[in-house]
Amino acid sequence: MQDAHNHLQDPRFDGIREDLIATMLTHGVSRCVVNGTSPEDWPQVAQLAELYPELVIPSFGLHPWKTPSPNWQQQLTSYLDTIPHACIGECGLDRWIKGYDIELQREVFTTQLDLASQRNLPLSIHCLKAWGLLIEILESRPLPQRGFLLHSYSGSAELIPHLAELGAYFSFSGYFLHQRKKNVRDAFKSVPPDRLLIETDAPDMLPPESCIDHPLEMELNHPANISKIHDKASAILELSSVPKNFQRFFESGF
Ligand SMILES: [Zn+2]
Repeated sequence: MQDAHNHLQDPRFDGIREDLIATMLTHGVSRCVVNGTSPEDWPQVAQLAELYPELVIPSFGLHPWKTPSPNWQQQLTSYLDTIPHACIGECGLDRWIKGYDIELQREVFTTQLDLASQRNLPLSIHCLKAWGLLIEILESRPLPQRGFLLHSYSGSAELIPHLAELGAYFSFSGYFLHQRKKNVRDAFKSVPPDRLLIETDAPDMLPPESCIDHPLEMELNHPANISKIHDKASAILELSSVPKNFQRFFESGF
């Protein structure tokens, strides 16, 4: 079982991380992509990849909620130079968060998109309420040959064919199993089966109680919940290509 997107380095997991990883390993989680969000947590992501090379695929990115530090680009490039199978993300655009600066977000995102395109690296994109701008950017720049991932895709069904044409993969989060997320579940039925992935986004995006195998305090989402998320999602989506999709997108061509 592969998890296309989590944040195992998150400080909310401090003190329980080793237990979480032991549980992941004994419950069939074979691979997970651990997404950094700013230069501050990149060292932890790199360390996890070094400690658990079989399990962790490291990803380094500057999240749209984070303020860019002056030398973030050089730092990112140096992580990508030293860790050849590293991915880029989490990065993206967000008009949902209070006080956003969309021009700054655009600049920071396009820098990461361009890097992913130049090196043909897997790119994990976060997009909330900024679909028009995202599509405008994707249409106007070179894109990674392997495509790109729209993690926890929450856009409309109508956008899916065009995004897929541009190279998008779409990952389904356990959070979408909440009853009120029916529109998102319906939209996912339009995702081509060879572009579908699944994710926890742990410690965030807690699934409904019936989809939690591994409860944690403080409403944290356990990364080993991916198995139950897969079982529940397979009742509504055709998931048989997901393992191949994961390998093709995250693990091929290095
Ligand atoms: Zn995330």
